[in-house]
Order: sequence, then C-alpha cells, then structure tokens
Amino acid sequence: MTVETIESYVEGRWATGKGQAAKLANPTTEAEVATADTHGIDMGKALAFARETGGKALRALTFKDRAELLFKMSQVTHKAREELIETEVVNGGCTRSDAKFDVDGAIGTLAAYADLGKKLGDTRALADGEGLALGRSPRLWGQHVYSPKLGAAVFINAFNFPAWGFAEKAACALLAGMPVVSKPATATALTAYRMTKHLVEHAGLPAGAMSFIGGAPGDLLDHLDVQDVLAFTGSAATGHKLRTRSNVIERSIRLNVEADSLNAMVIGPDVEVGSEALSLFLREAAKDMTQKTGQKCTAVRRIFVPAALVDDVIAELGARLGAIKIGDPASNDTGMGPLATKAQLEEVKRGVALLEKDADRVFTSEGLAGASGYFHPIMLFRARDPKSAPHVHTHEVFGPVATIVPYSGDPEEAGALVGLGQGCLVSSIYSDDRAFIERATGAIAPWTGRVYIAGAKVAEHTMGPGTVLPLSVHGGPGRAGGGEELGGMRGVFHFMQRTALQGYRPIVEGIAGIKAAST
Ligand code: NAP
Repeated sequence: MTVETIESYVEGRWATGKGQAAKLANPTTEAEVATADTHGIDMGKALAFARETGGKALRALTFKDRAELLFKMSQVTHKAREELIETEVVNGGCTRSDAKFDVDGAIGTLAAYADLGKKLGDTRALADGEGLALGRSPRLWGQHVYSPKLGAAVFINAFNFPAWGFAEKAACALLAGMPVVSKPATATALTAYRMTKHLVEHAGLPAGAMSFIGGAPGDLLDHLDVQDVLAFTGSAATGHKLRTRSNVIERSIRLNVEADSLNAMVIGPDVEVGSEALSLFLREAAKDMTQKTGQKCTAVRRIFVPAALVDDVIAELGARLGAIKIGDPASNDTGMGPLATKAQLEEVKRGVALLEKDADRVFTSEGLAGASGYFHPIMLFRARDPKSAPHVHTHEVFGPVATIVPYSGDPEEAGALVGLGQGCLVSSIYSDDRAFIERATGAIAPWTGRVYIAGAKVAEHTMGPGTVLPLSVHGGPGRAGGGEELGGMRGVFHFMQRTALQGYRPIVEGIAGIKAAST
C-alpha cells in the first residue's frame, strides 16, 4: 500500500504542511499507511475564512436548505461507505463490523438531522418554548429565540470514531447555521480525511462551510473567539487542558466536553441463570467489551452483579468472550482486532496493572494473532472489595477489559457504586422487576447521561447500551465531561445563542417566526 499524504482543507482549498509529518500506522501490521502534517498552515486565516465566508453563506440558508445539505452529506458518505470501511480496517484495526458501526453511525446521524431540519421548514428563526405575558398587559410579551452563533464550530475528535464522531457534531452545527472546522485525532485521521474529500467534492456545501485540519492543531485554539464554539471528544486530561485555556475562560467560549467514562451495567436481584434478562446481558456485555476492541466511550467498564450470581456470570461471560476470535480484522471470522495505536496498547497494559491492585483477573482470552500488531487479550476482573477499589471505579482502561463488582442487590447500593465512577455516559439495568428498576434508575440517573433499561419485554428490540442514538442525549456528568451532544434539537441549540425577547407581542412573535409582525 502506498503511503498517503493527508492534507488539510482550509480557506476553501487543500493544503499540506511543511514540517515533520506524523506517521499513521496499520495497527495490525504496524506498517506506515499515511502521513499527516499541518506545520505552516495559517490556522487564524482558516478560522476567519470559515466564520466570514462559511458562516455568512450558512446563515443565509433556511433550516430546510441546511437539512438538504445534511441529507446530501449522508448520501455522499453512503456512496463512499465501502471505501471508508476498508480504510478503517487498515488505519484503525477495526473489523469490518466495527468499521460499519462507525460509518453507518455517521450516515444515520446525518440523515436523522436532515429529517429534523426538514420539519423546521423554510425559516431561519427558532422559538424556544412558548411565549408568555410579562406583566398585567397582554401586549408586553416575552419569548425566547435561538439565533446561530456568528463564529466557527471547532471540533477536536477522538481516535475511535473518525466518521461518526465528526458527523454527530457536524450535523448539529451545520443545521444551526455554523461552519465547521474539524480536527480528527491524528492516529486514525485517514478515514476522516477520505470522508472529508468526498464531502467537499460532492456534497455541494457552500464555500467555507467545512474545513479540515489533517493533523496537529498547531495554534488553532489560540484563535478562538467569543462567537466560536469548541466541541471536544477525547480524554479527560485533554478536556481539562482545553477547559483551562485562557482564551476559553476569558472570552467565555462555549465548550462541550465528551470525555472518559466508567460505564456500568447493573444486574437486578431478580435475574436468574437461564433467564431472558441474563442472556440479553451476556450477549450485550460480550459485544460491548469487544466491539472496537473496547475502544468505545460507551463501553462497559464495571459490571455490578448480585453476589449470589457472580460465579455464574463469570463462567458464562468468560465462555462467550473465549469464543471470540482475535486476529486480522480484515478476515471475516475475526471477532476482535488490535488496539488502534502502540500508545493505546501501552496505556491499556498500564491500566490493567492498576486494576490488578484492586481486583483478581478471572478471565484472559487466548490465541492472539502473530508477532506484529497492537493486540491485547480480552480480560475480565473481579473486584476484591466493591467499595474500596479506587482503580476499578476511577481508571478507564480503554480496551477489551471490564471488572465484575459484587453487590447486595439493593438498588440504592447499586446507584452509590455507579456514583463512585464520578459520572458516566451510560449505565444499563438488566432486570424485569419494575420496583427495582424504578429505584435503581432514580439512584443512577444523577450520575449518568443515559440509562438503558434492558429486560425481557424489549429483548428483541434493543441495540445494546453502546449505541449512541441521534435523538437521545450523548454525554454525561463529572468525569464524562459534563457535556451533551445529539438529543435531537438539544444538540443543535449548543451552536446557537438563546436570547430572551421582550416587547410588543406582535413584534416579538414576528421576530420569533410565530406570526407576521403586522398582525
Ligand atoms: P486524546 O488523547 O485526549 O485526544 C483527543 C483529541 O484531542 C485528538 O484529536 C488530539 O489530537 C487532540 N488533542 C490532544 N491534545 C491536545 C491539545 N493540547 N490541544 C488540542 N487538541 C489536543 O484522546 P484519544 O486518545 O484520542 O481518545 C481516547 C479517549 O477519548 C478515551 O478516554 C475515551 O473515553 C474518550 N472518548 C470519549 C467519547 C465521548 O463521547 N465521551 C468518545 C470517544 C472517546 P492528536 O490526535 O493530534 O494528538
């Protein structure tokens, strides 16, 4: 395979850097597949072009027009689907199924937001909720409205979802009327680059609506200004660096952080060996731990099991995990490929060493592929003391590794244990006992952005807790970053300014697009 040069798309044209290029590898063979270099690219001008040219063009369009752009982006990505899947196998170590998960997630999210936008119609104004009389006279009227922010939407994305990670953010920002400047993680940027090429060439986006930084961000973030929005996905450590940047603080730049998460699965005390709820759990836990080699922000890290069921769960889950073939992700019978980078492999090994301080290893998969590649076995741990296992609850091992934590079966205890993770993206409950589910949900919800309730009634219809849906919020409190993406229009509002209008009712409603100002 030839080594491809990843370019950046700035100021409406493709540009290559003129410095020391980063090398991107195939994680299965460790061979170099691409280089990425952004040295010398004028990030200030790139942002200015996006704001001035792209922002102006997008704001001139109605929601329906922008929805049509998203629909076209979805179609263009769909047309390039096979190429993008193959790229992700080569530059991500993804099995074809893992790669489809990412690429189809991108296609589906763009299409879902196209549908939402179409319903908003031929308007540029967006009212927020109902208006209300502000005083005794019905003439003095209050109404909240949303307007697109005047800056650029800058995305910094993680390595694990080069297509979907971009699409989640871009669908919301473009529908809101903001131009996007997208910086994928360098290590897996080849998929994002190829997707951008297709979008730039075929999606009919106005000039400046989309820019792409193919590698290191350089001084991009130094140029952020008050009307810009920064949307970040990645580690809590990088999130912290961005949050504490002086311009972000001084100019109150809107920042959304999607970060680490010690996601939890909770099995209810009603669940028995052989039950539908337990088989659903086993199927979903095995998939969740190994899909994308566990490099999924929503992947389960902690599994809370009533003490009496722990041995059965270890045996049954271990048997399922043991049946997963690890190897070349390009082979159809491979169930799990390598980790995405060498650094990632080292990081997972470090995490495993930390877990070993608090937990016993109860399952390790066998049969790794050949000598090359960033492969890591699937591992299951059992916490020694559920309440005093700091690494289990606070260290996210971003790989095919999870820990079983015994608990009493009490829903409030489950909530308190989930809370030791200090905030997560998703927690799931496997139970058919309505009273347990209600109490456990109440105890878990403050600690998590999404609660996935699984049981016999929905067993045929669920897609597992790891799937992020465009109409449900993705994000979580505390360690998970405190941010929110998607969730239908909630994600769009992040790229808009909410303003309270107060004045003569016909004028206020006219501006808000509710009635003509003359009525
Ligand atoms: P990372 O090391 O934090 O990198 C994320 C992104 O930040 C990359 O694009 C990286 O660029 C960039 N970056 C790093 N330092 C930067 C700086 N000082 N200024 C500007 N940009 C900077 O995270 P990762 O290893 O890619 O991803 C793994 C982590 O992401 C895991 O902890 C996982 O939980 C989290 N994650 C969370 C979600 C979610 O939705 N909550 C989703 C996916 C992943 P370079 O690649 O060029 O260094």
